Amino acid sequence: TNNLLHIRNLRTQFQTDEGVVKAVDDVSIRVRPGEIVCIVGESGCGKSITALSVMGLIEEPVGQIAGGAIEFEGQNLLELSRNHLRAIRGNEISMIFQEPMSSLNPVLTIGEQLTEPLMIHRKLNRKVARQRALELITEVGISRPEQILRAYPHELSGGMLQRIMIAIAISCEPKLLIADEPTTALDVTIQAQILDMLRSFREKRGMSILLITHDLGVVAEMADYVIVMYSGKVVEEGGVVELFENPRHPYTQGLLRSKPIMNQRQKALYSIPGYVPNPLELTESCYFHDRCEHCMDICRDRQPPLRELEQGQKTACWLYEKEAAAHV
Ligand code: SF4
Ligand code: MG
Repeated sequence: TNNLLHIRNLRTQFQTDEGVVKAVDDVSIRVRPGEIVCIVGESGCGKSITALSVMGLIEEPVGQIAGGAIEFEGQNLLELSRNHLRAIRGNEISMIFQEPMSSLNPVLTIGEQLTEPLMIHRKLNRKVARQRALELITEVGISRPEQILRAYPHELSGGMLQRIMIAIAISCEPKLLIADEPTTALDVTIQAQILDMLRSFREKRGMSILLITHDLGVVAEMADYVIVMYSGKVVEEGGVVELFENPRHPYTQGLLRSKPIMNQRQKALYSIPGYVPNPLELTESCYFHDRCEHCMDICRDRQPPLRELEQGQKTACWLYEKEAAAHV
């Protein structure tokens, strides 16, 4: 199978005063060309850290990639030279964040910020870059592009800024777009328009998207394949239809049960009782055992491995031990 991105057994950790936090612990994710893969989970589950690891944005020495590989078109990004990496990140892989303001420079016009990457990565001259910038602004659904080029970030609404960030992100025709909660801060109408637009990039450009969200409504609408993370680990994954129709892991089942709450304008309002474990106090138990209504003795003693069940779905839960064994 051809993978565009293949994260293999990634381990990303942080040194804190109280000890080492394993934010991403042995996580593997594949994204194929033209595929939309969603990573879903509560805040602190490691989904953003996974994305930042791919982008090379883990700041040493506090943060550290302690193991695994991040292969992009077969090349391990963790082994490439700085120059080689720069040619890939921000060019063939680009990323958008929840807060567009945090990645825009307040003292430069939108035009300057949009043309610069085109001049650097695509080696366009200023005039051609400006023309391309106008086309990109139109493509992300903004009218009067001339006026926008002259504007400063503070003059634009949150929805407009996120469109500009998307225009910058796609300006170099990336093969992979990583989007971390790109619509969470926006109102419902604009959220829907932006999700439509992201989907259209996949249709028109064959772009792959790794979409990070806590919102199962977004997952249902966007994903081909879903990765469910909990406490730094993948607890379940599978095709979106199979996963929604037949969630196996008690955590995924809980997330799906809490869906009605999430359809209102929400924060991460899950109805699963209890809290994610303190990352400094992880034991050999299943990390979900405190919140799980099916908890058995083995769950307190040993962590369940992620194993394949029917239809390619994978689940890390002792409830499916017999089925997993039968499947192998
Ligand atoms: Fe619940 Fe046990 Fe499955 Fe963990 S392994 S999710 S505690 S049943
Ligand atoms: Mg996050």
